[in-house]
Amino acid sequence: MGENIYFKNKEIKKLLAYYKKIWALGHVDALMGWDLETYMPEKGVIERGTASSQIDLFEQRLLLDKEFVKSVDLVSRIDGLNDYEKGVVRELKRDISIKKRIPPRLIEEESLAATKGVVAWRNARKKSNFGIFRPYLEEIVRIEREKAEKLGYKEHPYDALLDLYEEDMRVREVDSIFSDFIPRLKQILDRVISEKKFTKGGRLEKIKYNMTQMQAVNKKTIDMLGYDMGRFRVDVSAHPFTTTIGSNDVRITTRYEGIDFKRVLFSTIHESGHALYELQCDSQLAMTPVFGGISLGIHESQSRFWENMIGRSRPFVHAITPMLKGQLTFLKGIDEEEMYHYFNRVKPGMIRVDADELTYNFHIVIRYEIEKLLMKNEIKTKELPEFWNEKMEEYLGIKPKNDAEGVLQDIHWSQGSIGYFPTYSLGNIVSAIVRAKAMKEIKNFDGKIGAGDFKPLQDWLKEKIHRYGSTYKPKELLKKALGEGYNPIYLTAYLNQKFLG
Ligand code: MG
Repeated sequence: MGENIYFKNKEIKKLLAYYKKIWALGHVDALMGWDLETYMPEKGVIERGTASSQIDLFEQRLLLDKEFVKSVDLVSRIDGLNDYEKGVVRELKRDISIKKRIPPRLIEEESLAATKGVVAWRNARKKSNFGIFRPYLEEIVRIEREKAEKLGYKEHPYDALLDLYEEDMRVREVDSIFSDFIPRLKQILDRVISEKKFTKGGRLEKIKYNMTQMQAVNKKTIDMLGYDMGRFRVDVSAHPFTTTIGSNDVRITTRYEGIDFKRVLFSTIHESGHALYELQCDSQLAMTPVFGGISLGIHESQSRFWENMIGRSRPFVHAITPMLKGQLTFLKGIDEEEMYHYFNRVKPGMIRVDADELTYNFHIVIRYEIEKLLMKNEIKTKELPEFWNEKMEEYLGIKPKNDAEGVLQDIHWSQGSIGYFPTYSLGNIVSAIVRAKAMKEIKNFDGKIGAGDFKPLQDWLKEKIHRYGSTYKPKELLKKALGEGYNPIYLTAYLNQKFLG
């Protein structure tokens, strides 16, 4: 490897040389986590958990090493650092400050509560009985409240947790975004439902597919999108995810359910969108604290952009339909119009991960409202199932029949992830801004997508967003790349045009 073109400052170089140890532990942990979800024999889980938490401890010890913390502090006062160097210092200071505030005892409690919580949640969901999970959730909420106190906040305890997933985002701002966005969305949804415009396409949802044929579809879709299989791979897991092992080793997983092929197709496109963000990060940033996507919201904007704005668009339907028909024999006689309606069928449902573009964000608001109340101790856990069901009725006009299709459907709370959900909607909001700007700046946008030519769009995303990794904070990046903030007007305009235009 030649001289790094961004990191020239001598003190920064020293920090990065030391950081390589921390990076290596993260690399090992990521690989172990990927293996756990894909190929590891089931009974290896306890030892894997132990190994993983020991590595976490090592990582923490290296990060909080007195000399290292002192050097980071000294370097942060140097004048004339470039943006990448400033990014390195900012990321290190943030990590150090978070790790310093949360005592090891609390981290241990959290990881134990999550381990037990996931087991209890699985069992509770299977039996559709919230009561089984409730005491575990109470313990998790108690720990998350304490965590918020340790991390510190100005206005709302939820701010402290939200900031872990979306830096500098606050309840005040999310509330203001949602208070404008949700009523507009509700208006669009109500009209689409009453005019029965996008209710077609249900026939294909019931068709079972052959596994081998569907694997071929997935492979051809990824080929079409132009991924370098020397740096990328696809495996199978219970819950699809993307993980970065290194700058040249990014992996996604997918899930074959055997029915309703758009589910696996869009899951693959979604995770590939996450992967592209990592794969197109500047290689000069490899093994540094600024490699890879900046926040969950910005990351989700990339996956949603590919899944919804591209994958469910008319030009994409045009590009992919011949291949789909070549692989899936049951599509004989289906034209592009029917495929488009199948891809975009609107149907209020109980389950978030199955939700269409119009109903998805209502699922998020419900979780966000509950999380805020929990953090302020303004709702009792025993009230959650009823609260949830009432909110579903209010927003989507449907009421879950049991806990499994209501309050128990998501794994997040059992893992101790409170503050995560709103980033899904923030991602949706940003994805529409990305779309608007890309369509303006890339000539013959629809024509290129329709022809299966994705390179100009990928290059544009790299230039505007991906290459910087975590050099800029989310809000700085949005301003710099798109000249915007988390402005929901683009998403409502897009949905209005698409579903009612
Ligand atoms: Mg995602």
